[in-house]
Amino acid sequence: MVFVPAYVNAKITGPVCQLRRFSIDGYIKKGDINIGGIFSLHIGEPVSQIPFTELNDIKLCRKVYERLLAMTFAIEEIHQNPELLPNVTLGYVIYDSCTTVAGAVEGTMKLLTGQRNIIPNYKCQNLSSAVAVIGESYSSTSVPMARLLGLYKFPQISYAATVMSLSDKNQFPSFLRTIPGDLFQSICIARLVQYFGWTWIGVLADSSDYGLQGSLKVKEELLKAGACIAFFESIPAVYSEVKNHHIRKTVQKSSANVIVIYSIDVDLYPVMEVITQNNVTGKVWVASDGWAQSYLFSKNEFLRTLQGTLGFLVRKGDISGFKEYIYSLYPYRNPDDVFLKKFWELVFDCKLPLMDNSNNVTKGLKICTGDETLDSMKLDFFKLTDLRNTYNVYNAIYAVTSALHDMISCRHGEGPFNNGTCAVMQDFLPWQILHYIKNTHFRNKNGEEVFFDMNGDPPALFSIVNWQVTSENSFRYEDVGHFDATAADSQKLTVDIPAILWNDHEQIPQSLCSESCSPGYRKIAQPGQPICCFSCIMCSQGEISNQTDSVTCVKCPKDGWPNDRQDKCIKKVTEFLSYDERLGQALTAVSIFLEIVAVVVLTVFIKCHHTPVVKANNRELSYLLLFSLMICFLCSFIFIGQPTRVTCMLRQCAFGIIFTLSISCILAKTVVVIIAFTANKPNSNLHKWTGTKLPKIVVMLCISVQIIICVSWLIVSPPFLNENITSVTGKIIIECNEGSSVAFWCMLAFLGLLAAVSLVVAFLSRKLPDSFNEAKFITFSMLVFVSLWMSFIPAYLSTQGKYMVAVEIFAIESSGAGLLLCIFAPKCYIILFRPHMNTKDHLMGKSAFNN
Ligand code: GLU
Repeated sequence: MVFVPAYVNAKITGPVCQLRRFSIDGYIKKGDINIGGIFSLHIGEPVSQIPFTELNDIKLCRKVYERLLAMTFAIEEIHQNPELLPNVTLGYVIYDSCTTVAGAVEGTMKLLTGQRNIIPNYKCQNLSSAVAVIGESYSSTSVPMARLLGLYKFPQISYAATVMSLSDKNQFPSFLRTIPGDLFQSICIARLVQYFGWTWIGVLADSSDYGLQGSLKVKEELLKAGACIAFFESIPAVYSEVKNHHIRKTVQKSSANVIVIYSIDVDLYPVMEVITQNNVTGKVWVASDGWAQSYLFSKNEFLRTLQGTLGFLVRKGDISGFKEYIYSLYPYRNPDDVFLKKFWELVFDCKLPLMDNSNNVTKGLKICTGDETLDSMKLDFFKLTDLRNTYNVYNAIYAVTSALHDMISCRHGEGPFNNGTCAVMQDFLPWQILHYIKNTHFRNKNGEEVFFDMNGDPPALFSIVNWQVTSENSFRYEDVGHFDATAADSQKLTVDIPAILWNDHEQIPQSLCSESCSPGYRKIAQPGQPICCFSCIMCSQGEISNQTDSVTCVKCPKDGWPNDRQDKCIKKVTEFLSYDERLGQALTAVSIFLEIVAVVVLTVFIKCHHTPVVKANNRELSYLLLFSLMICFLCSFIFIGQPTRVTCMLRQCAFGIIFTLSISCILAKTVVVIIAFTANKPNSNLHKWTGTKLPKIVVMLCISVQIIICVSWLIVSPPFLNENITSVTGKIIIECNEGSSVAFWCMLAFLGLLAAVSLVVAFLSRKLPDSFNEAKFITFSMLVFVSLWMSFIPAYLSTQGKYMVAVEIFAIESSGAGLLLCIFAPKCYIILFRPHMNTKDHLMGKSAFNN
């Protein structure tokens, strides 16, 4: 095996007016088949304007050197494996892009042409210097490489470039990667924000495609999830103090506690430096993979500001034997390895004289003895227990090897190309190996499946790390969750909340534009503000909201009413005239009393049935009247208590018929008086009406008409039980609806007519010289009756619910009592207290009631 130094150190030559020439470092270890690698081992020219670093800042070498080592290690490991690519020696060609597009493109051209001097579209060897390229880290350098390599369908596998556009196979047909793309990373960031209920988010993005595309996707996903963007600032690609201070002020002033930063570390560094200098704390920084584990921020000055950061990284993987491989490195064994030389000098702080082309050892620098061993050094910066992108490099090498193995194992006639042909081992074309790489699918040493989807992306698996300060005052990146895009929707994101340490907060910090609206309130948008900024107003009467941040309030069901806090509906209070309340009890007591009085009067009348006062003016009618009054008082009980379907149907009809009976008895009595008086006159032909026939006919006739009205009412539109929920807020009035108000008023009108006729007839006959002129008392009682019912109508119509019922009961009881008092009290007085007046003579002659 031959070791050829690829090129020498970066050099800037020429006069001031000439373009500066820049050459990249490289190292070749030639084999039968070579794999190319391009790594950002230094920060190059464009970003060197950032004051914190310089061209060839050796410290940056540490950051990614292990990625390069993973490539060489994987190739060494494959050599030891007799089953993979037997009889083929794999070599490698590695360049340092210095994180510049120019460097990346130069390295790519070198890999394509196999030339030291780049001649586009020209290749002097049959087999180009490499069959595939592993690289680059950054999207900004990977994209131009992919554009160039795509022209030749030359396979490129990146281990860290995540920009979304690289998944577009029309633009980048030969690009593949072992790191999931930003489409999933952005979705994952938005999901995490949503998971913690943060709705007021600040977004910072670097000005590269990586930052812009990723942050726009995050923004889109956040807006879709109902969150709002408090601010969106882009980090300048070229250092700008003014812009950096503007970003710092925006972050400081904003009420957003959560700030998503989609950027690579080197671009973010100057902004974060300004933020840190201004003691910004208490924020939750959500870091994209570009800076989520960057050593640049593990300096003391960042600890206070950045502790608690939640970062997104590709899942980690173990590379067994890698640590031992690193400890076995020895520069004198590979004198042409320019990268190892620099690394050695950095680690041991010495100069390797043999390898310095000029052989000039800088004064004051000690010379490396060659006895140094890495074993004795603490190579913490390699983070060998936390290999992520390094593990991706390892998998990428295996993917190329596996594809080469498949290609070599191809049997003629069974090949994937035209007519079953296979690629010719000594002279295969880039698109042929690309075909095999795209279709490779294998399990690595850890048992993990490695393959690419149709966009050249691996399955999306991310780790969520929490930046926690260690006792040595540096950051530990604690795994606190993961995102698996292939899992079921509810299991995609897993977060171990107790494991998270927040910045300045014990609990999960909040990031809201407005405090949430508690139940009982609803959100009301503020004009000109994002939807997350709102005020809360109480639900209007009869409405509730039972969740925080309700957008609307809902009406309670018909039988419900909001509680005081208006966060739930409670059953409305039912209202009816019940026996449990005073009013009901008073009316009941009055009814019972009047009932007793009526019973007593009836008893007295029955006992004294032979006495002239009872006999006078048709005894049977008096009994019937008393009986009807008794029923009438009992009738009040149908009105008190919870109405039912039956009581509703009975109420008005029973009242109507009973009162018709009473009034018709009174009318009959009056008619009897008139007939009796008129029949006594000579030449009267009314004799035949003096018996008991006429009163019976009057009563029967009247009651029949009322019965007909009531029966028709019950048949056509009977009264029914009604739960009235509208008339009184918060109450359900259980009431009887008349069904047909026409029938109700007909029934009342007929009753009124009878009463009016009785009144008129009694009034006309009040002065008749009867022995016991009952007509006068009937007139009086009818006056009471009519005036009571006249006043009942407006009172009835102006009340509601139980009071309406009470008014009716009152009218029934008082009018009944009026009849009882006016008609029977004088008679009872004579019967009980003036028995001497209860004689026929007295009644005939000098009656006390005679005019
Ligand atoms: N994912 C980043 C990008 O695409 C780079 C991450 C890194 O190299 O650390 O630019």
